[in-house]
Amino acid sequence: MPPGTKAMAQYDYDLFTIGAGSGGVRASRYAARLGARVAAAEERYLGGTCVNAGCIPKKLFSYAAHYGEDIAHAAGYGWNVAAAAFDWPTLIANKDREIARLNGVYAKLLAAAGVTLLDGRATGVDAHTVECAGRRISAHYILVATGGWPVVPPVPGAELAISSNEAFHLAELPRRALVVGGGYIAAEFASIFNGLGVDTTLVYRGERLLKEFDADLGGFLAGEMQRKGVRIRFHSNIEHIARAAHGQALRATLADGSVLETDCVMYATGRAPNTRGLGLADAGVKLAANGAVVVDAKFQSSVPSIYAVGDVIDRVLLTPVALAEGMVVAENLFGSGDRSLDYEGIATAIFSNPSVGTVGLSETKARERVGDIDVYRTTFGSLRDQLTGSGEQVLMKLVVDRNTERVLGVHMVGPDAGEIIQGFAVALRCGATKYQFDATIGIHPTIAEEFVTMREAVG
Ligand code: NDP
Repeated sequence: MPPGTKAMAQYDYDLFTIGAGSGGVRASRYAARLGARVAAAEERYLGGTCVNAGCIPKKLFSYAAHYGEDIAHAAGYGWNVAAAAFDWPTLIANKDREIARLNGVYAKLLAAAGVTLLDGRATGVDAHTVECAGRRISAHYILVATGGWPVVPPVPGAELAISSNEAFHLAELPRRALVVGGGYIAAEFASIFNGLGVDTTLVYRGERLLKEFDADLGGFLAGEMQRKGVRIRFHSNIEHIARAAHGQALRATLADGSVLETDCVMYATGRAPNTRGLGLADAGVKLAANGAVVVDAKFQSSVPSIYAVGDVIDRVLLTPVALAEGMVVAENLFGSGDRSLDYEGIATAIFSNPSVGTVGLSETKARERVGDIDVYRTTFGSLRDQLTGSGEQVLMKLVVDRNTERVLGVHMVGPDAGEIIQGFAVALRCGATKYQFDATIGIHPTIAEEFVTMREAVG
């Protein structure tokens, strides 16, 4: 029986979770497994952004986009492939079927854990009460896991543009697309559109894509994306959008006065926490200026019985982070835990084409933090691409503490970067040194082996 169960009996539930996305479902299931009586409310779709309008459909689109290139490259290996044709409605239908399957998996997981699932919007009333489908429900603890939503800047004509939410459901694949932003979603969707044959332009107000990461990554990625056909306009932004005189086309006027005609403008300009209209502020929960629930290291808000995890706290917007946060909350409230979460060394991948994988410190951050570092960097064409003639290049980079030899950062742009970096994330968590990297015998011939064969520091 979990600690505090007696006091909890006066409430309808021990835990009420608002939002059944990655963080909410994980916390609810885990809390139920620890003996808590749990209910979760979901107003939109089970599995949240990741399953329905994020990681999963995006990765399926990314696979789809790669096939076009793979079919073209197969010629170098002797395959004579008849002119390939792509059918967008087939991709959408198959993607929707897979998402429906995953929605069902989430429902089963919650039911199997004994979590009561309520179909509807829940709003906070006070420290121990929510309202859902016209009913007031009490709970010892309330967990806010309502995620985030794309932000589209209020430029004139923005209503003609879409965000990633709509990109997953376009009735037709546009012939031309203009993607705005320089982060994860912009790089991923520009690559997806381009790979599917859409004439794609990326408009970014800054000078380097993925500016949060090691500087080499964004610079190198931009070059490779351009080689594959994406037009990138740096230091550029849309001033207004209007309908073109003919058909469904749009005209985007940029800050320098130039006008780009396109069939689709997609904003990938960040996401905002989903707290509007939830009644949290009225319940006494402190919110940040952008609406994020302010929480401490244990994910407790300013109201002691109300917790929050995932995108709604606006810390690290990644599904595996939301899962880990949800576990910490469940364990601390209903298990024997007194944990917080270590946010250091979280590996991440951007599923652009080529993909990006990164873990640990960038060169700049490492110089700031430890001073003396060695940098190992290599670029090369993979064996596979010697026959495709694509000219595609791979970038691999290690950042090493010169005094301790500890590897501080592992960064890559190239095929399967996410798959490759995952293993190196374990090595970094174990405190691996450059000596241990060098003592590891590579697997030949692979791209990944370069990470254990870089001998000459370049900086
Ligand atoms: P990001 O924060 O990654 O990037 C937002 C981009 O939009 C930045 O380049 C920013 O420019 C630009 N921007 C912001 N406001 C404006 C504006 N008013 N006009 C023009 N440009 C603007 O956000 P995303 O939307 O790409 O993704 C949100 C989050 O979702 C990511 O940070 C990531 O955590 C998560 N995600 C993870 C994925 C994965 O794991 N593969 C995939 C997709 C999303 P500037 O740099 O100048 O501020």
